Amino acid sequence: MNVQNVSILGATGSIGDNTLDVIARNADRFRVIALTARRNVDKLADQCARFDARFAVIADPGLAGRLQAALADRKARAEVLTGVDGLEEAAGMADTDIVMAAIVGAAGLRPTFRAAQCGKKILLANKESLVIAGEVFTAEARRAGARVLPVDSEHNAIFQSLPPAFADGLEAVGVERVILTASGGPFLDLPRSALSGVTPEQACKHPNWAMGRKISVDSATLMNKGLEVIEARWLFNARPEQIEVLIHPQSIVHSMVTYRDGSILAQLGTPDMRTPIAHALGWPERIEAGVDRLNLAQMSELSFHEPDLERFPCLGLAFAAMRRGDSAPVTLNAANEIAVERFLGGRLRFDRIPHLVGEVLDRVSVTALGGLDDVLEQDSLARRVTEEQAVKLQ
Ligand code: NAD
Ligand code: MG
Repeated sequence: MNVQNVSILGATGSIGDNTLDVIARNADRFRVIALTARRNVDKLADQCARFDARFAVIADPGLAGRLQAALADRKARAEVLTGVDGLEEAAGMADTDIVMAAIVGAAGLRPTFRAAQCGKKILLANKESLVIAGEVFTAEARRAGARVLPVDSEHNAIFQSLPPAFADGLEAVGVERVILTASGGPFLDLPRSALSGVTPEQACKHPNWAMGRKISVDSATLMNKGLEVIEARWLFNARPEQIEVLIHPQSIVHSMVTYRDGSILAQLGTPDMRTPIAHALGWPERIEAGVDRLNLAQMSELSFHEPDLERFPCLGLAFAAMRRGDSAPVTLNAANEIAVERFLGGRLRFDRIPHLVGEVLDRVSVTALGGLDDVLEQDSLARRVTEEQAVKLQ
């Protein structure tokens, strides 16, 4: 069997953990080359020791010495790299076949883009990269021959439900629409008036999935689904009107594709990220993921309904930003990242998140994006405007 070399950007996070779990179950197929983290020195050193990684990358350069010592304590041989340069180096290494892009937020863009430039097989969890740089990123991946495989469970389900030739246009393969399912998050049935008082702990307690804190808050506001709509637009070369969202509280049907002849194809499974991760890691083969098998006979109900855009305005804001195009999704994402950070830090009410994002979208003008630098510049600008607006909301 051909052994494939894997580097994980964001190894210490929830997706990183699950990826290493799948790799450990398939140790004869995969070898770990580089693992990266922002600040979690001890966990990164543990992972490097356990998987005998060749490189340990810490994004915060001030922690290089501590990482060196932690690796020495564990007799791990990994060489230390630091900063965004270190992340980019890890993403582009000649020895790496597969890059798992699992950094959270726009911070993942530069290293993920480097993986595209270097023609890697990219397992894309970092949806924010595609939301803000969709056109630039997909063009670069195409030019360099990088294969982008979706890890986000909905997009992975759609990928599995599409015929291989979908990249030439959905109509050409008889597809009418893609339907993203959404659990609805922890506040699905909460009345609007109660949304003002919810705490970060409540927002991070997702009914079906255990995830990092940022995406958990996004799931609670439905911004996560909004980002996923934009992600789908780029991954599947879909027009805005070809993308739909349905609330499906059980998170069993991970998404669907509807066809011209009336067929609907879907992918089902227990809500466990190791399935899409294993699918993308092994693709085009199928590998063991360690997940519980779905027992449909024990499911009492699979239900679906339309999302409530009144209570969850973030989804509508994301649809509007997608239709507007150019830099609008960059502004949406930057404002949301700041808003979520403030909410998690106790400095913004939950129901003010959509309010703040909407204010910023109204204030920052939309411009065309020529390349990566334009994206990063718009991102910084939108972050500055968001901080200014957030102070007024306090
Ligand atoms: P997480 O917060 O658990 O982990 C994030 C990882 O990124 C950590 O390793 C952290 O050290 C690293 N990181 C954070 N900021 C960084 C920075 N500025 N520079 C370098 N590294 C940085 O997040 P997660 O839940 O694993 O999510 C990761 C990505 O995957 C997100 O884009 C999320 O939307 C996407 N995703 C996650 C899930 C899930 O089940 N967790 C599902 C679908 C998609
Ligand atoms: Mg998802």
